[in-house]
Amino acid sequence: MSSTMRGEAPGPKILPFGARAGPAALKIDNYSRARGTGGVPRGSPKMGSEYGLFIDGTWTTPPKATRFETTNPATGETVGTFVAGTADDVRRATEAAARAFPSWRETPAPKRGEVLLEVARRMRAAKSELGRLVTREMGKVISEGLGDVQEAIDFVEYMAGEGRRLFGETVPSELRSKFCLTVRQPKGVVACITPWNFPTAIPNWKIAAALVTGNTVVFKPASATARCAAEIVQLYADAGVPPGVLNLVTGAGGTVGNALVDDPHVRTVSFTGGVDTGREVYVRGAQGLKMVHLELGGKNPVIVMDDADLPLALEGVLFGAFGTAGQRCTATSRLVLHEKVFERFLGMLVDRLDRFLVGDPLDPATGMGPVASLDQERKILAYIEVGKKEAKLRYGGEKLTGGAYDRGHFVRPTIFETKHGTRISKEEIFGPVLSVIRVGSYEEAVRVANDVDYGLSSSIYTRDVNLAFRAIQDLEAGITYVNAPTIGAEVQLPFGGVKNTGNGGREAGSAAVEEFTEIKTVFVDFSSRLQKAQIDSETAA
Ligand code: NDP
Repeated sequence: MSSTMRGEAPGPKILPFGARAGPAALKIDNYSRARGTGGVPRGSPKMGSEYGLFIDGTWTTPPKATRFETTNPATGETVGTFVAGTADDVRRATEAAARAFPSWRETPAPKRGEVLLEVARRMRAAKSELGRLVTREMGKVISEGLGDVQEAIDFVEYMAGEGRRLFGETVPSELRSKFCLTVRQPKGVVACITPWNFPTAIPNWKIAAALVTGNTVVFKPASATARCAAEIVQLYADAGVPPGVLNLVTGAGGTVGNALVDDPHVRTVSFTGGVDTGREVYVRGAQGLKMVHLELGGKNPVIVMDDADLPLALEGVLFGAFGTAGQRCTATSRLVLHEKVFERFLGMLVDRLDRFLVGDPLDPATGMGPVASLDQERKILAYIEVGKKEAKLRYGGEKLTGGAYDRGHFVRPTIFETKHGTRISKEEIFGPVLSVIRVGSYEEAVRVANDVDYGLSSSIYTRDVNLAFRAIQDLEAGITYVNAPTIGAEVQLPFGGVKNTGNGGREAGSAAVEEFTEIKTVFVDFSSRLQKAQIDSETAA
């Protein structure tokens, strides 16, 4: 950012907490009270808040196990303590999964689906507890915590139905009296490695798809949301998933994750997380010629054209950029804004943020909770400092402090006006930081939108139907929304991205079945004679 542009800045609207409008102060009071009443979800009766590893149908704590804890990013309270698993624990888990595989694979797929339906039923019954747990352990606001669980329920139900489909193909043969078809078969033991930002939805996307297709699973969740993971696994066990079919090993990515990816029993690794970790997992998996499915980062643009419905776009950009405190792989982290509406729209955004409440995520009136951890806070604040040097700060740009804010990791929603090409406009920040880039035409908007290493989600707001369809064609991303923000996946549709966002696969929808099955091609010759493809077919009559 040139000094000239910085000189144009009217100065960030940073208000000291005490100077904020009444409702925000009220929020913090509510917040303190909410802390006392807790809303701590009922842990599994077997576990309390100390959790073991779940291997072969049993919760176990290895002798001399070291433990780690998860904490509420809004308050610092402990949410649960967990075993830091070792390579030995991983081996025990994969062995259990390998032992359970033959019988689970033989279980008819519709029956496997029925078990999943029971999981979904139990999850629905526990939805409000689980939603509060998501909020307490990860910090997203309660409506989004409940949405996270709803997405998990929807997906498990959807996958339960897949037990009665698992379609193959029938294809004509070039020879007489011969059938050709394909059937889907499970891969064996699969490893599911998940991030913390959707602590119930993402694990269920993987686990339900892997199980209905007949695989057995070793699940390694993000350490920061280990309690959500443990409660999910307990639900599967209570619903009737047999011992060994789903195993949980908590612990550090570098230890548990590496051991899982290296483990000879594991044939497929389904990983969601950051690009650097994903690359490491991919390289390790390649040594064992494993199928490694990667869902990685994003730098998702919303294009707002000069003919857009601006109030509609405003709501979309706010939700896309600051929902889950910007910690979604599909978060709107770039606003590509037409110059004719630039100042007007930015003004609307800033005005709206002045009334956007940041605080207690359990309070339904709160717009944004804390970021997920101290690590997240540090990384986001470091990017904000980078932004202050290379761009013009238009809103926020600071950690929120004072009162209840001091117990947690609260960052004010932040907006930078920046030229395309700055670090903040190209690198994934994974926090409540929006880069706004001015463009003069549709062509320039698309060029800017596409000129990043990622390609997960994208969006355009316009009333011009031709432009909307051109954008669907032109935007380099796995997902394009028209007149809606970059977030809002639905489980019955494929999910995934292009470029550094992944390595070509898709999750959810019917594509989820592809990830976890091998296709077997079957030829049945009932001619009672040797027929030679490509040789006899010429003369067959
Ligand atoms: P990380 O890459 O840090 O971690 C993801 C998972 O990998 C965690 O379970 C982590 O364990 C584990 N892990 C860490 N190191 C290794 C290793 N060497 N081998 C195997 N596993 C390892 O990502 P975050 O959890 O911080 O999640 C944020 C990232 O996830 C963002 O980049 C975001 O864009 C991306 N994401 C992508 C989505 C998509 O669908 N495209 C959806 C959601 C998020 P531990 O927690 O113990 O470190």
